[in-house]
Amino acid sequence: MTNCPGCLKAGHHTYCPSCRKRLFDGKKVSPVLAFTRPMYNQARSAVTTERMSISGVQTKMSLRLRDSRLEMTESGGEYFLKPIPHGEFQRLDAAPINEHLTMQIAKQMFGIPVAENALVAFADGEMAYLTRRFDIQADGSRSLQEDFAQVAQRSEETHGRNYKYDFSYEEIGGLIRKHVAAHQVEMEKFLQLVAFNYYVHNGDAHLKNFSLIRNDRYGDYILTPAYDLLNTRLHVPNESRTALPLFKDDFATASFRANAFYAYDDFHEFAGRLGLHPARFGRMMQRLRDNESAVCSLIDRSALSEECKQLYKQHVQDSTRALSYSFDGRL
Ligand SMILES: [Zn+2]
Repeated sequence: MTNCPGCLKAGHHTYCPSCRKRLFDGKKVSPVLAFTRPMYNQARSAVTTERMSISGVQTKMSLRLRDSRLEMTESGGEYFLKPIPHGEFQRLDAAPINEHLTMQIAKQMFGIPVAENALVAFADGEMAYLTRRFDIQADGSRSLQEDFAQVAQRSEETHGRNYKYDFSYEEIGGLIRKHVAAHQVEMEKFLQLVAFNYYVHNGDAHLKNFSLIRNDRYGDYILTPAYDLLNTRLHVPNESRTALPLFKDDFATASFRANAFYAYDDFHEFAGRLGLHPARFGRMMQRLRDNESAVCSLIDRSALSEECKQLYKQHVQDSTRALSYSFDGRL
């Protein structure tokens, strides 16, 4: 490795000082784990094959840091390890690198708060995605956290197998307005995340991939840092562009009725419904449209294969085009 496996900065064979601080409180932790993938598989014997989605096939395991070493643990881990998933989707070998890259694009290019994350390698060389839990306090206690399936009181029992997908981003916005005191700030973060998911072709941002967490200092709820961000189109090429529709009650803009894909007008309407100030929305979209070359250079610094890099760049170009197109001539 010649780039930091945390932030992809050039000239680092291990975690750079700033990544070490954010991920491991400054401890020198090796980017190579002390155990192999087969050892991991043995420890994690119960594998869910029920739901056919990336997040479903991508099993994870808790890790804890002991004497500057990451080790597997059944409880009390501060980290999650997500190795290469098994399943019928394409290019799954690239999934950990894809997730890490996408999280870094969100953070570095768009300033989106994300769960701390990095790549690690098993002792036999296979790559895995590592993320630090944001709900664990310095004293080891856990903050109260609820995903939006819980907030919306939807489960498989009450709403059937498709409960995570049978909803809309507009309705999540309604729940933020209802449950979050500082909802203007959080609503903008939410909109930015929905637009970012569209930008990177994350078609699996369902109800459980957004959560609220209690601020232990003030007792109010805010959005958690973003997690589980990846370009799912690399693995599921024909998946729909978004896991949920933007609008409730099957609403569609004139642009969508004409073109059948979300473009600038859809996000404009969406932002209006969420109550975001037009100028702030304008700046957010500008940033998404203007960052293509910086995003492509970060993609180049990742460990993706040439094929995956080219595809990822094409996907970003596709969405940049879509977000630069207004049916109603607003741009
Ligand atoms: Zn770094």
